[in-house]
Amino acid sequence: MATGNGSATSSDWQDRYYHVDQILDRPGPRTDPSFLAGDEVKDFLRNKCKILVIGAGGLGCEILANLALTGFKDIHVIDMDTIDISNLNRQFLFRPADVGRPKAIVAAEYVMKRVPGIKVTPYYGKIQDKGDDYYMQFNLVICGLDSVEARRWINATLVNLVDPENPESLKPLIDGGTEGFKGQARVILPTVSSCYECSLDMLNKPTTFPICTIANTPRLPEHCIEWASVLEWPRARGDEKLDTDDPEHIGWLYSIAAARAKEFKIEGVTWSLTQGVVKNVIPAIASTNAIIAGMRTPSSHSIYLTEVLAAACCNEAFKIATSSAAYLNNYFMLIGTEGVYSYTFEHEKRDHCPVCGGEALEMSISRDWTVEQLMELLTEKQNIQIKKPSLATPEKPIYFQQPPQLEEATRPNLEKKVSELVPDGGEITVTASSLPFNKMPKADINKAGWEQSEFPILCETCLGPNPFIRMSKQEFGRSCGTCARPFTVFRWNPGSGARYKTTVICQTCAKVKNVCQTCLLDLEYGLPTQVRDTALAIQNEAPTSDINREYYAQNMENKMEDGNQALMQVGTRATSAGKEMLKQLARTNPYYKRNRPHICSFFVKGECNRGSECPFRHEKPVENDLSHQNIQDRYHGRDDPVARKIMANHTEAQGLKPPEDENITSLFLSSLPASATELSIRTHVANSLPQVPASQLRSVVHVAKSRCAFVNFKDRNSAERAAEAWANGLDMDDERVLVKWGRSKGSAKSAAPIVGPSAVAAPA
Ligand SMILES: [Zn+2]
Ligand SMILES: [Zn+2]
Ligand SMILES: [Zn+2]
Ligand SMILES: [Zn+2]
Repeated sequence: MATGNGSATSSDWQDRYYHVDQILDRPGPRTDPSFLAGDEVKDFLRNKCKILVIGAGGLGCEILANLALTGFKDIHVIDMDTIDISNLNRQFLFRPADVGRPKAIVAAEYVMKRVPGIKVTPYYGKIQDKGDDYYMQFNLVICGLDSVEARRWINATLVNLVDPENPESLKPLIDGGTEGFKGQARVILPTVSSCYECSLDMLNKPTTFPICTIANTPRLPEHCIEWASVLEWPRARGDEKLDTDDPEHIGWLYSIAAARAKEFKIEGVTWSLTQGVVKNVIPAIASTNAIIAGMRTPSSHSIYLTEVLAAACCNEAFKIATSSAAYLNNYFMLIGTEGVYSYTFEHEKRDHCPVCGGEALEMSISRDWTVEQLMELLTEKQNIQIKKPSLATPEKPIYFQQPPQLEEATRPNLEKKVSELVPDGGEITVTASSLPFNKMPKADINKAGWEQSEFPILCETCLGPNPFIRMSKQEFGRSCGTCARPFTVFRWNPGSGARYKTTVICQTCAKVKNVCQTCLLDLEYGLPTQVRDTALAIQNEAPTSDINREYYAQNMENKMEDGNQALMQVGTRATSAGKEMLKQLARTNPYYKRNRPHICSFFVKGECNRGSECPFRHEKPVENDLSHQNIQDRYHGRDDPVARKIMANHTEAQGLKPPEDENITSLFLSSLPASATELSIRTHVANSLPQVPASQLRSVVHVAKSRCAFVNFKDRNSAERAAEAWANGLDMDDERVLVKWGRSKGSAKSAAPIVGPSAVAAPA
């Protein structure tokens, strides 16, 4: 088989990838239908695919070597440790002379020296040092770490990275890990399949419950069960051995635990939980024994496990990068205490997962619990395990760990009862500083004048049916889409089957226009600002030049701080006709369909190989004006195609469809109040059309005895804007003036009544 073809680089000698090419040159029985065998896939693997390996310890080194030999050529590695003498026996890339040097750098040098033509870029530091831009550059991420905290961090970061607008932001994560004689390799498609956080409860308990809690202050059903099994069983049953498979034994523990739970008003003790807790205690001890026993078995056994896992991780990376075979779905477990036992299963996404789940976790707690007790519970509970949580209700902070001023201000709440601060059935948002849900600002950035907000300003639709569920928050996460100042970005999932949403403009800008920070629609009417401003005759005062924008926003912020909330001059010019129009157009109920995923850009190109797992919509896009909206125009309410469409439909429905004859530039007013004069008509016209320059009004011809008038504009565009604004009529001195289009000269087909036809479009 000839190789060394188009995909080869100068360092690839004849038949370098002979064996790998057996897989890539032709489809096999398990290849994905989208797999295109041949040069293209080889070119992608060897010249385009960028892969990140996190961790350069035992597993990480094996993964690096495997990737290099498989044909990945652009590999990055990140590790914060230096080489210790104790690493030398298991981490085969390191030599005694390397002791004290960074693992990432030594591993990169070694692989590049031994495997020609491979570029390994090391970073010696923490994964938390790097931001979204760094992680965004990779096609794949492989994690070979032993730290649970670091894995939770990278998992949450990659889930947060998924941008609904950009399918390329979905970075598959392959996670390998060993723990004693157990190991696992899994494939995580962030937001699509079960994530690391989803399976948190599969880890062994981080701590056993303190005996004093079990004995004196139980808070969890688990505490009651442990009390029954650890303290009550030996007391009541003496030397009798507890058999976790004996229904009588479990039943006895269950009744004792349930009685204690009732005494302490704790809910949730069930027969199956009792069995689960009791069984869980035993294996934890067994695995400890296994590790101790492991010390007597040859250490080559553990090295063998690492090799198998590294091969599994690398194999998955190869399959994902090339689509040459179906990848692991999604969890591979390896247990190697006596011989090797392996097991593959699909770990399911957890609805209440704090990272990728869309639903709030329901928890009932006793009425007299304090905030401090609730926080201890969050730390202990197996499926939450959040160290140092910060708590808030949708309205106000309850307790914040950071910044110091807020911590101090909220500290008195720790002793208060939760029921005093949160209404029955109320929701609490939990964030943690160890996870990227609640990033604190970097100390070196100048944040003067930038806002820091605890909660976003959102419309009901963007919030979704479950308000304030696990919003991730990034202070100064990006610059505002309208004023360009950095602001606090929030991100959340508005419900199952919906795409993730983020805030795109800052709170000041949202307040100035009374719009949603995400969809930019008016908060009261759910309409584009252009529609609202036209109906209510609101003057657009915001500067649109880049230089003034930031200054303007700052000015507005100062005004708001001075207590001047009336930023929008609503009400002074608004007429009842305008309000009536808004009422007819308003969307009063949330429109959740707007939260659907975006169309998959790969699918449109015919290249999506995620099939039914793809989180984006597989539909052909409808190409029209509405797909080309820009934030500035929508925010400031000018040239917004969606607004135009809404108003055009409404204007037509009200009988004011612009006539085909483009020369008609006048509108006909009838049923004018008896008190009307040419001047009062001019004033009303100007006030009701703040967006039409006064100079565009050519003339007003008032026919007092017929109580009607012609309003003649200099151009057609101004006349059309007037027709939109007056679709429901025009109010003058508490009377509703009727509006029709003027008729063309010499035409009898016009809808307008024929009154003084000579006045049409005639300059006064
Ligand atoms: Zn999850
Ligand atoms: Zn702004
Ligand atoms: Zn919205
Ligand atoms: Zn797709």
